[in-house]
Amino acid sequence: MSSVQPKDAAAVILLRQKTDPDNPEVFWVKRSPKLVFLGGFYAFPGGQAEPADPEAPIENCGDDRERAAMISCAAREMFEETGVLLARGSKTLTVGQRSSLLDDLESGRMPWPEMLEHYGLHLDANDFTFVGRWVTPPFAPRRFDTWFFLVNCPPKQEPHVTGDAELASGEWISACDAYKKWERNEILAAPPVLHTLKVLAGGLTNDLVERFLSVPEAHRQVTQRMEFRQNYICFPVRTPTKPPATHTNAYLIYTSRELLIIDPGSPYEEEQRALAECADDLIAEGRIVREIVLTHVHPDHVAGVSALNEHLQSKHALRVPVAAHRLTAESLKHQFAVDRHIEDNEVISLDGEPAIRMQALFTPGHARGHLCFYDEARGVLISGDNVVGFGSVLIDPADGNMSEYLDSLRRMRSLPNVTVLLPGHGPAVANPYDKIDQYIEHRLEREANILTAVREGASTPAEIVARVYTDVNPKALPMAERAVLAHMEKLVTDGLVKSASGSYRPV
Ligand SMILES: [Zn+2]
Repeated sequence: MSSVQPKDAAAVILLRQKTDPDNPEVFWVKRSPKLVFLGGFYAFPGGQAEPADPEAPIENCGDDRERAAMISCAAREMFEETGVLLARGSKTLTVGQRSSLLDDLESGRMPWPEMLEHYGLHLDANDFTFVGRWVTPPFAPRRFDTWFFLVNCPPKQEPHVTGDAELASGEWISACDAYKKWERNEILAAPPVLHTLKVLAGGLTNDLVERFLSVPEAHRQVTQRMEFRQNYICFPVRTPTKPPATHTNAYLIYTSRELLIIDPGSPYEEEQRALAECADDLIAEGRIVREIVLTHVHPDHVAGVSALNEHLQSKHALRVPVAAHRLTAESLKHQFAVDRHIEDNEVISLDGEPAIRMQALFTPGHARGHLCFYDEARGVLISGDNVVGFGSVLIDPADGNMSEYLDSLRRMRSLPNVTVLLPGHGPAVANPYDKIDQYIEHRLEREANILTAVREGASTPAEIVARVYTDVNPKALPMAERAVLAHMEKLVTDGLVKSASGSYRPV
């Protein structure tokens, strides 16, 4: 299965009027925690291009139609999300006039280009400084090819989040303060946002634009190396995993002296090479690889273990031990040796700066020997396949067990300080407790519906699927039957259903 194609998008990095050039203030927004894509993340106002964007009147853009269209997209999104109108001629508009314009635009009474023309406004490309074009890596449910523009906030305009359902809040913040919030593990932001904050924290220097454009990612080069939380590199590799996911996240957790690699899962050579190079870079800075650690047995999490170990051995003469839960080790014994068993509640400590302590949590249900890893100090929970960034989690008996899975979710839910989930698939999850609650509620709702179906006479898995999984794509029906079996096991254990030779009846 191929990954999602990126869609054109644009974003505005808005600088405050008369801001301190040594530590400029920028307007950032918090995305609604309910959003599927980067919910709860901090970002800049922006969004996807619309077909009418290229029609907007614009000056000083020459023949560059593509740039003109993206400037128009950026300005429209800025207006819709914050009420700031980045158009020439808007100085004479009163606050009331601007808000009625916004009304016209949002209600669809007047399309954006027509609105600008009607009020004698136009965009000027000189107001929008291009500072990079970033493409979302191919591991997310949505991907964007986003143009970033640096813009000075026009006089007498104040951005405020307009009640757009996508955004929870917005505020001015100095670039240094914002970046420090990330360093203190208080916020989550995507790589281009972190890069922007870091560049701006260096001040509005003469080489500002060059500094923005100094990384290959700012020129559409897709990076696999992302650090949603400091010292935890998320490195998605392409794997033959379960759709809609196309990638499995490996994690490289590092201090100044040590490195731990979780779930090198790709069977593909080029992906294995990319991961090995990332490890090489961290080793070249003076670290040793402490261990390769596995969350669970599934092939899309372990298929790259041997290749990575061979690489580390041939290039660095390192024989890196592999560690996993005993049940995972048992299932893998014909593929490769697991050198060390990780026990429930065991603490894995990495030496160096900053010291990192991760508690292993035995959390079966999706797989027998499943482990999560909890760094309480940083609020990080590596959730493996128990909770994922997008798509759903399959509970497939006998390796999967629904009662155990729900207990594991409840255990994850009971941890005192989780501010981010780093899942086996998809982007980091910024609203961990809500997400885990949704998972639990979803399973209990399915269970209740299945029990009702059995009480109404459905007796085989196929009959139950037909009644309960009415929202499922026909291709997914065989998987739904496996999920029903998992629910039936639990209902039998709970004493609510009796089973006899493949058919079920209520108790
Ligand atoms: Zn799995």
